[in-house]
Amino acid sequence: MAEVIYPRMAVIGCGLIGSSVIRAARASGTVGEVAVADANPEHRTQIAELGYADLITGHIGEAVEGADLVVLAVPVLAMGPAAEAAAARLKPGATVTDVGSVKGSVAEALAKALPDSAFVVPGHPIAGTEQSGPAAGFAELFEKRWVILTPQARTDDPYLEAVQRLADFWSRAGANVDRMDAAHHDLVLAVTSHLPHLIAYNIVGTAADMEEVTQAEVMKYSAGGFRDFTRIAASDPTMWRDIFLANKDAVLEILGRFTEDLQALSRAIRWGEGDKLFELFSRTRDIRRGIVAAGQESAEPNFGRDRGKSS
Ligand code: NAP
Repeated sequence: MAEVIYPRMAVIGCGLIGSSVIRAARASGTVGEVAVADANPEHRTQIAELGYADLITGHIGEAVEGADLVVLAVPVLAMGPAAEAAAARLKPGATVTDVGSVKGSVAEALAKALPDSAFVVPGHPIAGTEQSGPAAGFAELFEKRWVILTPQARTDDPYLEAVQRLADFWSRAGANVDRMDAAHHDLVLAVTSHLPHLIAYNIVGTAADMEEVTQAEVMKYSAGGFRDFTRIAASDPTMWRDIFLANKDAVLEILGRFTEDLQALSRAIRWGEGDKLFELFSRTRDIRRGIVAAGQESAEPNFGRDRGKSS
């Protein structure tokens, strides 16, 4: 029998990620009982039908009672209030983590809301799809994906052991676990995930607003690239609104650099500077080939593929 790491786990917010955490934990045998709190009554019914949870409630305090691990899987701006609602009824020595796509502001909110008796270990699984809700989850979501933990600056043994237990929990779900400073996480994700989503939202909006080109033409003649943008731009509006507001500084920093580079490109096009365009396109092709050669990616493009899209 697989060794149980957490006899009781509470998941707060049981949508795509929360329900995948439960499925993966059940499949790997890392948890005993599972309690769920979700604000959405329809989702609570779906979770009951899926049969993965021992307790399903709309009250966060009720769900966290007696839990050894609490996983907050609500939208980023709801993390702080959810932690506040959990605080009074947490078991001393419980580990509290989250799966939010932004770490700096969430880590700060959790540290403020939760008592010293809890081990707070913020986290982010770089895995997901553009679907939402409990029915969209699946146990293999985290396999061979990165989970980044951004532990607090504590060095006492009980805390370090709690961090290691959580790392083991994710490893048993098939994930590769990394540890990182929260601010660095937010900058990295601003480049690799947040800016690409902003570009997708913007380009689909621009195409939709064009009067000279009809919506039917956009869909009819869109090649793979634009289709991928439309899929990414269909990602959950609440989740992405929260990500941009919560990671404002890093996104604006990266957006500033991106805009400067775009200006340089537009200048090269305007003045017919083909050499500059060719040089950039060759450089970016080499970067892509280098990634493929290093074995980090298949040669097949997977930007926005249904399963395993990161955010
Ligand atoms: P989701 O499918 O929409 O699930 C969130 C669930 O939490 C919904 O059932 C939602 O109910 C509920 N909820 C919202 N606020 C709540 C509150 N205050 N108390 C209790 N329940 C609440 O979202 P998700 O895609 O799983 O995302 C959850 C978190 O994971 C986000 O922080 C996101 O940044 C992070 N994340 C997402 C992905 C991804 O690709 N989706 C990847 C990595 C990390 P309603 O439906 O009524 O809102």
